[in-house]
Amino acid sequence: MRVYLDNAATTAIDPTVVEAMLPYMTTAFGNPSSTHWHGRNVRSAIEKARKTIAELLQCSTSEIFFTSGGTEADNCALRGAIATFSIQHVISSSIEHSAVLQTLQHLAGEEKIQLHFVDLDEQGQIDLQHLTLLLQKYPNALVSLMHANNEIGNLNPIEEIGNICRTYKAFFHSDTVQTIGHFTHNLSQLPIDYLVASAHKFHGPKGIGFLYVNRKAKIHPLITGGAQERNMRGGTENVYGIVGLAKALEIAYEHMSDHRQQISQLKKHLIEQLQKNIEGVSFNGTSAHLDKSLYTVLNVCLPASEENDMLLFNLDLQGISASGGSACSSGAAVGSHVLAALQHPKEKGAVRFSFSKFNTLSEIDYTVEQLIALYKGIAT
Ligand code: PLP
Repeated sequence: MRVYLDNAATTAIDPTVVEAMLPYMTTAFGNPSSTHWHGRNVRSAIEKARKTIAELLQCSTSEIFFTSGGTEADNCALRGAIATFSIQHVISSSIEHSAVLQTLQHLAGEEKIQLHFVDLDEQGQIDLQHLTLLLQKYPNALVSLMHANNEIGNLNPIEEIGNICRTYKAFFHSDTVQTIGHFTHNLSQLPIDYLVASAHKFHGPKGIGFLYVNRKAKIHPLITGGAQERNMRGGTENVYGIVGLAKALEIAYEHMSDHRQQISQLKKHLIEQLQKNIEGVSFNGTSAHLDKSLYTVLNVCLPASEENDMLLFNLDLQGISASGGSACSSGAAVGSHVLAALQHPKEKGAVRFSFSKFNTLSEIDYTVEQLIALYKGIAT
């Protein structure tokens, strides 16, 4: 049996998305910047895709910029805002995705900004009082806090964070890569300046995403050398990627509540079966709280065992693809900075299972069976 439980890393592309993309890989091949019929035809597909996205997110088409994915969109937003508004203080957290964390650490290393981390509790939840204190000290800062953590699944209250930012006239960027396509975002109401998406996290193609820039917080371009994306990002557009991204988002919104229900059931079942069958099992972050975490992610903390170093390897041997996240560095080249920040005990194992609409209950049962076999007889 082959079971794919690494959907937070990437998802399988939906066949309907492939179908929508195909004409732009074959007959509709014109350069969207060309003014002739072949070009205009493709240009209109890009603008239709932008309109679809803007309508779903309830913002203006002029606020959506296509990028090569989440990492580029995060870089554009952070570097763009810091340069455009001469921002000196950035407030973020130690458990952000490396697209944000390494970018900010790099800028701090070059002494372009001063970086401040907000306090987290032992489950990785943001201390909003500390955020307020930091903003009182550094008003007009840039705040970058993710909507959901890709490793432990924690959901952050971005509306509340956005309101706090507005009170202190701070800019607010959120890495929403793990929530776009899984939750709705109403940008006509949400107090946010920059938000990012990556199509391959919601059954779209890889190498395409977008950046939302609130019209009140316009930034300088990051990639120069062409007038594409209204002078914000030079370079010929990834047309079939853009078409695929819009189609994937459309499908995600159309079936969101069904998929949410279906996937939540799988996650709930996995939690219950692990609690019932593996002594000493627990869950990292808030991932076991269904209302406080992504329904697509469960980060399991396994009892201390010699099996832990080889856990992912053994799961892979049994046909299960999951992802790591060990606070220690054995087995993997580097440990997880998220689990390290949460002071996850080194002797315990950690594995992230992440689900999609393509997973089934029998795949979850098979995974539980394999984990029981590995951890049989191991007490905490
Ligand atoms: N931010 C988060 C939270 C992610 O999970 C990822 C992907 O792993 C990224 C950013 C990067 O996205 P992309 O792969 O599109 O560059």
